[in-house]
Amino acid sequence: MGAGAYVHIPFCARKCSYCDFCTVQYDSALIDEYHRSLKREIEMYSISDTVETLYFGGGSPSLYPVELLNDLLMHLKSSLRTEIREATIEANPWELERERLQEWRKMGFNRVSVGVQSSEKSILEICERPVPSDLKQRLIMCREMFDNLNLDFILGLPGEAESNVRANLELIGAIGPDHVSYYVFDSDHETELMSQVHDAIIELPDPGILERLHDLVLESLGKMDYKRYEISSWAVDNRECLHNLKYWRNEQYLGFGLSAGGHIDGKRYVNTGDLRRYHDLIGRNLAPVSEFTQNTVIQELFEALFMGLRLAEGVNLSRSGYPGELLDFLISKIRVYLGEYLSPDYRVLVLNEIGMDFSRSVFQKLLDIKEEMEIAFST
Ligand code: SF4
Repeated sequence: MGAGAYVHIPFCARKCSYCDFCTVQYDSALIDEYHRSLKREIEMYSISDTVETLYFGGGSPSLYPVELLNDLLMHLKSSLRTEIREATIEANPWELERERLQEWRKMGFNRVSVGVQSSEKSILEICERPVPSDLKQRLIMCREMFDNLNLDFILGLPGEAESNVRANLELIGAIGPDHVSYYVFDSDHETELMSQVHDAIIELPDPGILERLHDLVLESLGKMDYKRYEISSWAVDNRECLHNLKYWRNEQYLGFGLSAGGHIDGKRYVNTGDLRRYHDLIGRNLAPVSEFTQNTVIQELFEALFMGLRLAEGVNLSRSGYPGELLDFLISKIRVYLGEYLSPDYRVLVLNEIGMDFSRSVFQKLLDIKEEMEIAFST
Protein backbone atom coordinates (compact mmCIF):
# COMPACT_ATOMS: atom_id res chain seq x y z
CA MET A 1 0.00 0.00 0.00
CA GLY A 2 1.49 3.36 -0.99
CA ALA A 3 1.74 6.48 1.16
CA GLY A 4 0.48 10.01 0.57
CA ALA A 5 2.24 13.37 0.77
CA TYR A 6 0.53 16.65 1.64
CA VAL A 7 2.13 20.05 0.97
CA HIS A 8 0.69 23.12 2.69
CA ILE A 9 0.88 26.42 0.82
CA PRO A 10 -0.42 28.90 3.40
CA PHE A 11 -0.55 32.10 1.36
CA CYS A 12 -3.92 33.69 0.56
CA ALA A 13 -4.78 37.00 -1.06
CA ARG A 14 -7.13 37.70 1.86
CA LYS A 15 -8.79 35.84 4.71
CA CYS A 16 -12.31 34.51 4.21
CA SER A 17 -14.21 35.10 7.44
CA TYR A 18 -15.35 31.46 7.91
CA CYS A 19 -11.85 30.04 7.47
CA ASP A 20 -9.89 28.48 10.33
CA PHE A 21 -7.05 27.04 8.23
CA CYS A 22 -3.49 28.11 8.85
CA THR A 23 -3.01 30.96 6.37
CA VAL A 24 -0.57 33.81 5.81
CA GLN A 25 -1.32 37.05 3.99
CA TYR A 26 0.22 36.73 0.51
CA ASP A 27 3.40 38.74 0.15
CA SER A 28 5.81 37.96 -2.68
CA ALA A 29 8.71 38.79 -0.36
CA LEU A 30 7.78 35.77 1.82
CA ILE A 31 7.52 33.20 -0.95
CA ASP A 32 11.18 32.48 -1.71
CA GLU A 33 12.08 31.83 1.91
CA TYR A 34 9.05 29.55 2.35
CA HIS A 35 9.97 27.68 -0.79
CA ARG A 36 13.55 27.10 0.40
CA SER A 37 12.33 25.87 3.80
CA LEU A 38 9.77 23.53 2.24
CA LYS A 39 12.44 21.94 0.08
CA ARG A 40 14.75 21.45 3.05
CA GLU A 41 11.91 19.95 5.06
CA ILE A 42 11.15 17.46 2.28
CA GLU A 43 14.81 16.36 2.36
CA MET A 44 14.53 15.60 6.10
CA TYR A 45 12.16 12.67 5.63
CA SER A 46 12.62 9.21 4.27
CA ILE A 47 9.85 6.64 4.15
CA SER A 48 9.97 3.01 3.10
CA ASP A 49 6.60 3.17 1.30
CA THR A 50 6.26 4.49 -2.20
CA VAL A 51 4.35 7.78 -2.33
CA GLU A 52 1.38 7.41 -4.65
CA THR A 53 -0.75 10.48 -3.89
CA LEU A 54 0.22 14.13 -3.67
CA TYR A 55 -2.07 16.83 -2.36
CA PHE A 56 -1.22 20.53 -2.48
CA GLY A 57 -3.61 22.31 -0.11
CA GLY A 58 -3.74 25.55 1.77
CA GLY A 59 -4.06 28.37 1.94
CA SER A 60 -4.10 28.96 -1.78
CA PRO A 61 -1.79 26.73 -3.83
CA SER A 62 -3.45 28.25 -6.90
CA LEU A 63 -1.74 31.52 -6.02
CA TYR A 64 1.74 29.99 -5.75
CA PRO A 65 3.99 30.81 -8.74
CA VAL A 66 3.81 27.98 -11.29
CA GLU A 67 7.59 27.66 -11.68
CA LEU A 68 7.90 27.12 -7.92
CA LEU A 69 5.09 24.57 -7.92
CA ASN A 70 6.92 22.71 -10.66
CA ASP A 71 10.16 22.90 -8.69
CA LEU A 72 8.42 21.46 -5.61
CA LEU A 73 6.93 18.58 -7.58
CA MET A 74 10.34 17.74 -9.07
CA HIS A 75 11.92 17.98 -5.64
CA LEU A 76 9.34 15.64 -4.11
CA LYS A 77 9.87 13.16 -6.90
CA SER A 78 13.66 13.22 -6.56
CA SER A 79 13.65 13.08 -2.73
CA LEU A 80 11.02 10.36 -2.18
CA ARG A 81 10.26 7.12 -3.97
CA THR A 82 7.15 8.00 -5.97
CA GLU A 83 4.71 6.30 -8.30
CA ILE A 84 2.08 9.00 -8.51
CA ARG A 85 -1.49 7.90 -9.17
CA GLU A 86 -3.19 11.10 -8.07
CA ALA A 87 -1.75 14.64 -7.73
CA THR A 88 -4.30 17.19 -6.55
CA ILE A 89 -4.02 20.95 -6.41
CA GLU A 90 -6.58 23.05 -4.53
CA ALA A 91 -7.75 26.14 -6.34
CA ASN A 92 -9.84 29.22 -5.72
CA PRO A 93 -12.35 29.94 -8.50
CA TRP A 94 -10.96 33.42 -9.20
CA GLU A 95 -7.48 31.96 -9.69
CA LEU A 96 -8.61 29.51 -12.40
CA GLU A 97 -6.95 30.88 -15.53
CA ARG A 98 -6.29 28.96 -18.74
CA GLU A 99 -2.52 29.41 -18.70
CA ARG A 100 -2.22 28.36 -15.06
CA LEU A 101 -4.36 25.27 -15.64
CA GLN A 102 -2.22 24.32 -18.64
CA GLU A 103 0.93 24.67 -16.58
CA TRP A 104 -0.50 22.57 -13.74
CA ARG A 105 -1.43 19.83 -16.16
CA LYS A 106 1.95 19.94 -17.85
CA MET A 107 3.84 19.62 -14.57
CA GLY A 108 1.84 16.54 -13.53
CA PHE A 109 -1.24 17.55 -11.53
CA ASN A 110 -4.08 15.30 -12.65
CA ARG A 111 -6.81 16.46 -10.25
CA VAL A 112 -8.09 19.93 -9.32
CA SER A 113 -10.18 20.64 -6.25
CA VAL A 114 -12.03 23.95 -6.50
CA GLY A 115 -13.38 25.68 -3.39
CA VAL A 116 -16.65 27.01 -4.77
CA GLN A 117 -18.33 27.02 -1.31
CA SER A 118 -21.46 28.71 -2.70
CA SER A 119 -22.65 30.04 -6.02
CA GLU A 120 -24.60 32.78 -4.22
CA LYS A 121 -22.80 36.13 -4.41
CA SER A 122 -24.45 37.63 -1.32
CA ILE A 123 -23.36 34.69 0.87
CA LEU A 124 -19.76 34.91 -0.27
CA GLU A 125 -19.75 38.66 0.21
CA ILE A 126 -20.84 38.22 3.84
CA CYS A 127 -17.89 35.82 4.18
CA GLU A 128 -15.51 38.32 2.59
CA ARG A 129 -14.67 35.81 -0.12
CA PRO A 130 -14.10 37.06 -3.68
CA VAL A 131 -16.75 36.03 -6.22
CA PRO A 132 -15.83 35.87 -9.91
CA SER A 133 -18.76 37.01 -12.05
CA ASP A 134 -17.83 34.29 -14.59
CA LEU A 135 -17.70 31.42 -12.06
CA LYS A 136 -19.50 28.96 -14.32
CA GLN A 137 -17.24 29.66 -17.33
CA ARG A 138 -14.15 29.18 -15.20
CA LEU A 139 -15.46 25.86 -13.89
CA ILE A 140 -16.35 24.72 -17.42
CA MET A 141 -12.81 25.55 -18.55
CA CYS A 142 -11.40 23.57 -15.63
CA ARG A 143 -13.72 20.65 -16.40
CA GLU A 144 -12.54 20.61 -20.01
CA MET A 145 -8.88 20.64 -19.06
CA PHE A 146 -8.90 18.17 -16.17
CA ASP A 147 -10.20 14.65 -16.26
CA ASN A 148 -10.59 14.55 -12.47
CA LEU A 149 -12.35 17.50 -10.84
CA ASN A 150 -13.70 18.10 -7.34
CA LEU A 151 -15.96 20.96 -6.28
CA ASP A 152 -16.22 21.93 -2.59
CA PHE A 153 -19.36 23.49 -1.09
CA ILE A 154 -20.28 24.57 2.42
CA LEU A 155 -23.84 24.20 3.69
CA GLY A 156 -25.05 26.57 6.40
CA LEU A 157 -23.21 29.84 5.82
CA PRO A 158 -25.16 33.00 6.78
CA GLY A 159 -27.92 33.73 4.29
CA GLU A 160 -28.28 30.07 3.19
CA ALA A 161 -31.67 29.37 1.65
CA GLU A 162 -33.27 26.67 -0.47
CA SER A 163 -32.94 28.76 -3.65
CA ASN A 164 -29.17 28.99 -3.45
CA VAL A 165 -28.71 25.33 -2.46
CA ARG A 166 -30.75 24.48 -5.57
CA ALA A 167 -28.48 26.82 -7.58
CA ASN A 168 -25.40 25.00 -6.24
CA LEU A 169 -26.93 21.66 -7.20
CA GLU A 170 -27.74 22.98 -10.68
CA LEU A 171 -24.16 24.15 -11.03
CA ILE A 172 -22.95 20.66 -10.07
CA GLY A 173 -25.33 19.19 -12.67
CA ALA A 174 -24.07 21.60 -15.35
CA ILE A 175 -20.34 21.10 -14.67
CA GLY A 176 -20.44 17.37 -13.89
CA PRO A 177 -17.46 17.12 -11.49
CA ASP A 178 -16.24 13.62 -10.65
CA HIS A 179 -16.28 14.40 -6.96
CA VAL A 180 -18.25 16.72 -4.69
CA SER A 181 -17.44 17.64 -1.10
CA TYR A 182 -20.45 19.21 0.62
CA TYR A 183 -19.48 20.15 4.17
CA VAL A 184 -21.83 21.36 6.86
CA PHE A 185 -20.45 24.62 8.29
CA ASP A 186 -18.78 23.90 11.62
CA SER A 187 -19.70 26.63 14.11
CA ASP A 188 -17.31 25.23 16.76
CA HIS A 189 -14.25 26.85 15.21
CA GLU A 190 -13.04 30.25 16.30
CA THR A 191 -13.30 32.36 13.17
CA GLU A 192 -14.03 35.95 12.27
CA LEU A 193 -17.46 34.83 11.10
CA MET A 194 -18.25 33.22 14.46
CA SER A 195 -17.20 36.40 16.32
CA GLN A 196 -19.68 38.28 14.15
CA VAL A 197 -22.34 35.70 15.04
CA HIS A 198 -21.54 36.03 18.76
CA ASP A 199 -21.71 39.84 18.44
CA ALA A 200 -25.15 39.46 16.75
CA ILE A 201 -23.87 41.16 13.57
CA ILE A 202 -24.90 38.20 11.42
CA GLU A 203 -27.01 35.10 11.97
CA LEU A 204 -26.50 31.47 11.08
CA PRO A 205 -29.42 29.67 9.43
CA ASP A 206 -31.97 27.93 11.61
CA PRO A 207 -30.90 24.29 12.36
CA GLY A 208 -34.33 22.98 11.26
CA ILE A 209 -33.98 24.64 7.85
CA LEU A 210 -30.44 23.34 7.58
CA GLU A 211 -31.57 19.79 8.21
CA ARG A 212 -34.10 20.08 5.38
CA LEU A 213 -31.46 21.54 3.06
CA HIS A 214 -29.06 18.75 3.97
CA ASP A 215 -31.72 16.21 2.97
CA LEU A 216 -32.14 18.09 -0.30
CA VAL A 217 -28.39 17.80 -0.98
CA LEU A 218 -28.38 14.07 -0.17
CA GLU A 219 -31.38 13.36 -2.34
CA SER A 220 -30.25 15.48 -5.30
CA LEU A 221 -26.67 14.19 -5.41
CA GLY A 222 -28.07 10.65 -5.22
CA LYS A 223 -30.32 11.37 -8.20
CA MET A 224 -27.27 12.63 -10.11
CA ASP A 225 -25.60 9.22 -9.46
CA TYR A 226 -23.10 10.52 -6.95
CA LYS A 227 -22.26 7.89 -4.34
CA ARG A 228 -21.79 9.12 -0.79
CA TYR A 229 -18.62 7.30 0.28
CA GLU A 230 -17.75 9.54 3.24
CA ILE A 231 -19.84 11.78 5.52
CA SER A 232 -19.21 14.87 3.34
CA SER A 233 -17.87 13.34 0.10
CA TRP A 234 -19.56 12.03 -3.03
CA ALA A 235 -18.03 10.55 -6.18
CA VAL A 236 -19.11 9.13 -9.51
CA ASP A 237 -17.38 6.29 -11.36
CA ASN A 238 -15.14 5.31 -8.43
CA ARG A 239 -13.47 8.73 -8.43
CA GLU A 240 -13.06 8.80 -4.64
CA CYS A 241 -10.19 11.02 -3.54
CA LEU A 242 -7.31 8.53 -3.18
CA HIS A 243 -5.32 10.92 -1.01
CA ASN A 244 -8.13 11.59 1.48
CA LEU A 245 -8.85 7.86 1.64
CA LYS A 246 -5.39 7.48 3.14
CA TYR A 247 -6.41 9.75 6.04
CA TRP A 248 -9.73 7.99 6.55
CA ARG A 249 -8.20 4.51 6.32
CA ASN A 250 -5.53 5.55 8.82
CA GLU A 251 -2.75 4.83 6.34
CA GLN A 252 0.67 6.48 6.07
CA TYR A 253 1.22 10.01 4.89
CA LEU A 254 3.78 12.76 5.17
CA GLY A 255 2.86 16.40 5.65
CA PHE A 256 5.13 19.26 4.63
CA GLY A 257 4.80 22.96 5.33
CA LEU A 258 3.25 25.18 7.96
CA SER A 259 0.76 23.32 10.23
CA ALA A 260 0.89 20.15 8.09
CA GLY A 261 0.60 16.78 9.81
CA GLY A 262 1.89 13.29 9.12
CA HIS A 263 1.24 9.70 10.20
CA ILE A 264 4.14 7.30 9.84
CA ASP A 265 4.65 3.92 11.62
CA GLY A 266 2.09 4.69 14.34
CA LYS A 267 3.64 8.10 15.00
CA ARG A 268 1.80 11.33 14.36
CA TYR A 269 3.28 14.79 14.04
CA VAL A 270 1.91 18.26 13.45
CA ASN A 271 4.11 21.09 12.25
CA THR A 272 4.17 24.49 13.86
CA GLY A 273 1.72 27.03 12.49
CA ASP A 274 4.07 29.91 13.26
CA LEU A 275 5.92 30.97 10.11
CA ARG A 276 8.96 32.42 11.92
CA ARG A 277 9.38 29.35 14.07
CA TYR A 278 8.97 27.12 11.00
CA HIS A 279 11.91 28.86 9.29
CA ASP A 280 13.98 28.95 12.49
CA LEU A 281 13.64 25.21 13.13
CA ILE A 282 14.42 24.29 9.55
CA GLY A 283 17.36 26.71 9.57
CA ARG A 284 18.75 24.69 12.50
CA ASN A 285 18.20 21.43 10.61
CA LEU A 286 15.35 20.42 12.92
CA ALA A 287 11.97 19.07 11.85
CA PRO A 288 9.49 21.98 12.27
CA VAL A 289 7.24 19.87 14.48
CA SER A 290 5.15 21.29 17.33
CA GLU A 291 3.33 18.10 18.38
CA PHE A 292 4.55 14.55 18.22
CA THR A 293 2.67 11.46 19.42
CA GLN A 294 3.78 7.86 19.51
CA ASN A 295 0.39 6.21 19.62
CA THR A 296 -0.45 3.43 22.03
CA VAL A 297 -2.39 0.49 20.56
CA ILE A 298 -5.62 1.95 22.02
CA GLN A 299 -4.95 5.39 20.51
CA GLU A 300 -4.19 3.85 17.15
CA LEU A 301 -7.40 1.77 17.32
CA PHE A 302 -9.52 4.81 18.10
CA GLU A 303 -7.88 6.94 15.46
CA ALA A 304 -8.71 4.18 12.99
CA LEU A 305 -12.32 4.35 14.24
CA PHE A 306 -12.60 8.15 14.19
CA MET A 307 -11.32 8.29 10.65
CA GLY A 308 -12.76 5.05 9.27
CA LEU A 309 -16.28 5.51 10.56
CA ARG A 310 -16.55 8.55 8.31
CA LEU A 311 -16.46 6.15 5.38
CA ALA A 312 -19.40 4.21 3.98
CA GLU A 313 -17.12 1.13 3.89
CA GLY A 314 -16.55 1.53 7.67
CA VAL A 315 -13.78 -0.20 9.63
CA ASN A 316 -13.08 -3.88 9.23
CA LEU A 317 -12.18 -4.99 12.76
CA SER A 318 -11.79 -8.65 11.87
CA ARG A 319 -8.83 -7.78 9.63
CA SER A 320 -7.42 -4.99 11.75
CA GLY A 321 -4.87 -7.02 13.73
CA TYR A 322 -5.75 -5.35 17.06
CA PRO A 323 -5.64 -7.62 20.15
CA GLY A 324 -8.85 -9.65 20.57
CA GLU A 325 -9.38 -8.56 24.19
CA LEU A 326 -9.44 -4.89 23.13
CA LEU A 327 -11.88 -5.59 20.33
CA ASP A 328 -14.17 -7.65 22.62
CA PHE A 329 -14.24 -4.78 25.13
CA LEU A 330 -14.89 -2.24 22.38
CA ILE A 331 -17.72 -4.22 20.83
CA SER A 332 -19.40 -4.84 24.19
CA LYS A 333 -19.43 -1.07 24.82
CA ILE A 334 -20.57 -0.24 21.31
CA ARG A 335 -23.49 -2.66 21.67
CA VAL A 336 -24.61 -0.84 24.81
CA TYR A 337 -24.02 2.78 23.81
CA LEU A 338 -23.98 2.99 20.04
CA GLY A 339 -26.03 0.05 18.78
CA GLU A 340 -28.66 2.23 17.15
CA TYR A 341 -26.05 4.13 15.11
CA LEU A 342 -24.12 1.22 13.65
CA SER A 343 -24.85 -1.72 11.41
CA PRO A 344 -25.43 -4.88 13.44
CA ASP A 345 -22.38 -6.72 12.02
CA TYR A 346 -19.74 -5.77 14.57
CA ARG A 347 -16.85 -7.33 12.62
CA VAL A 348 -17.17 -4.45 10.17
CA LEU A 349 -18.24 -1.26 11.93
CA VAL A 350 -20.30 0.96 9.64
CA LEU A 351 -22.43 3.96 10.57
CA ASN A 352 -26.03 3.47 9.48
CA GLU A 353 -28.09 6.41 8.18
CA ILE A 354 -28.92 7.66 11.67
CA GLY A 355 -25.25 7.32 12.60
CA MET A 356 -24.17 9.37 9.57
CA ASP A 357 -26.60 12.14 10.55
CA PHE A 358 -25.57 12.05 14.22
CA SER A 359 -21.88 11.37 13.66
CA ARG A 360 -20.82 14.06 16.14
CA SER A 361 -22.67 12.29 18.97
CA VAL A 362 -21.19 8.95 17.89
CA PHE A 363 -17.64 10.35 17.96
CA GLN A 364 -18.29 11.97 21.34
CA LYS A 365 -19.46 8.64 22.77
CA LEU A 366 -16.44 6.89 21.26
CA LEU A 367 -14.22 9.28 23.21
CA ASP A 368 -15.93 8.17 26.43
CA ILE A 369 -15.45 4.50 25.47
CA LYS A 370 -11.78 5.21 24.74
CA GLU A 371 -11.34 6.67 28.24
CA GLU A 372 -13.01 3.62 29.80
CA MET A 373 -10.78 1.34 27.77
CA GLU A 374 -7.63 3.21 28.76
CA ILE A 375 -8.57 2.79 32.45
CA ALA A 376 -9.55 -0.86 32.00
CA PHE A 377 -6.30 -1.78 30.23
CA SER A 378 -3.87 0.42 32.13
CA THR A 379 -1.10 -1.61 33.75
S1 SF4 B 1 -11.02 29.68 2.64
FE1 SF4 B 1 -9.29 29.24 1.29
S2 SF4 B 1 -8.89 31.19 0.24
FE2 SF4 B 1 -10.17 31.69 2.00
S3 SF4 B 1 -8.70 32.21 3.61
FE3 SF4 B 1 -9.17 30.05 3.87
S4 SF4 B 1 -7.60 28.98 2.73
FE4 SF4 B 1 -7.55 31.12 2.04
